Amino acid sequence: MKFIGAHISASGGVENAPVNAHLIGANAFAFFTKNQRQWFAAPYTQQNIDLFKSRCEEYGFSPDQILPHDSYLINLGHPEEEGLKKSRTAFFDEMKRCEQLGLNRLNFHPGSHLNLIPIDDCLDRIAESINMSLERTNGVTAVIENTAGQGTNLGHTFEQIAHIIDKVEDKNRVGVCLDTAHTLASGYEIRTREGFENTFLKFDEIIGFNYLKGMHINDSKKELASRVDRHDSLGKGLMNMDVFSFIMNDSRFNNMPLILETPDDTLWAEEIQLLRSLIK
Ligand SMILES: [Zn+2]
Ligand SMILES: [Zn+2]
Repeated sequence: MKFIGAHISASGGVENAPVNAHLIGANAFAFFTKNQRQWFAAPYTQQNIDLFKSRCEEYGFSPDQILPHDSYLINLGHPEEEGLKKSRTAFFDEMKRCEQLGLNRLNFHPGSHLNLIPIDDCLDRIAESINMSLERTNGVTAVIENTAGQGTNLGHTFEQIAHIIDKVEDKNRVGVCLDTAHTLASGYEIRTREGFENTFLKFDEIIGFNYLKGMHINDSKKELASRVDRHDSLGKGLMNMDVFSFIMNDSRFNNMPLILETPDDTLWAEEIQLLRSLIK
């Protein structure tokens, strides 16, 4: 079964997320657990939590179809003590929020070295940050998203992600989300059948499909290996429709959230239909 949706708005309350997802014909969704550009947010009320859960049930969303995303401010590999501490506190809060909502995964970008520490040290810090949050939460998997490798962002190679996973103590609660736009921009050719097969063979060898907990389905405004993160609507960027067809017809991507993060939200309902129509 393919679970297809979009990163929808949760403004006005987290309980609005499942409604917004239902309105675009999604059977999966993503959302920010709190305002993605602020450090602090009010805790969920019991009413938020109860309504979120009952609406998910009403519209048929199980936790395996939902992939919350953390704040862009968090840097779990921050080279400086203060920034690291702030990030770890905020990440723990987001993991807790997922736990409160009965969800089982939280998607995040691994972190950035800011040209202040070596890459390996930064990856170690990220793993340590994940360990600290997993120790204090239950049932939520930390889902590392691959990045385009823009600036000093890490997680743009499968080896870097494997390095982090290797140092996470509870392997049952660490996972990966691959973003198609980031994958292309970071240098993996996925647009041809051969490139797609090679990329996912590498992914399986270096990381392992058992860690894959979701996909972000985006076209890219930027070329292969550009290391620039710019999403585009499906069919409007430099990707072709073949790559989306490969994913839709590959059982290795079954039963996990496949999430659009395309820039034009008025197209999401159409894009979801388009992806479904690719299934042969
Ligand atoms: Zn992301
Ligand atoms: Zn993404």
